[in-house]
Amino acid sequence: MRDIQLFLKTFQKEMDWEISNENYKESKSSILNNYMLLTTEVSEVAEEFRSIFNKTIKLVKEEGYSENEAFKTAKEMHKDNIGKEISDCIAYLVKFANYLDIDLEDSFYSKMEEVRTRVNKDQ
Ligand SMILES: [Mg+2]
Repeated sequence: MRDIQLFLKTFQKEMDWEISNENYKESKSSILNNYMLLTTEVSEVAEEFRSIFNKTIKLVKEEGYSENEAFKTAKEMHKDNIGKEISDCIAYLVKFANYLDIDLEDSFYSKMEEVRTRVNKDQ
C-alpha cells in the first residue's frame, strides 16, 4: 500500500494531476472535481459488471453455454478491463489520502480491525 501511495504521489506530480493546495477555493474546487472523477470510475466498474452479465446471457442464448460456464467465460473476458477500472478508482482514492497525508496502510488495517470487532446492529 505504501509503495502505491509513493508511486502515485510521484506519478500525479509528473502528470500535474495533484489536488490544488493554492487556497481554500482552489482546493475545494479541485477536491470536488476529483471526487466527480472518482464516481465516474466507480460507475465504470459497474459498467464492466453489466457487460459481464450481458455477455453471460449472450453466450447462453447464442453459443449454448451453461449459465455457470458462460458466467465464468464472461468474467475471464472482462477481467483486464475491470482491473483497469478498479485501478482508476484506487488512484483517485489514494490521491485523496496523499493530499491529506494519510498513511493508508495504517488506516486500512485499523479500520478492518474496527469492523472485525464492531457489534453488528442487524444481528
Ligand atoms: Mg476508467
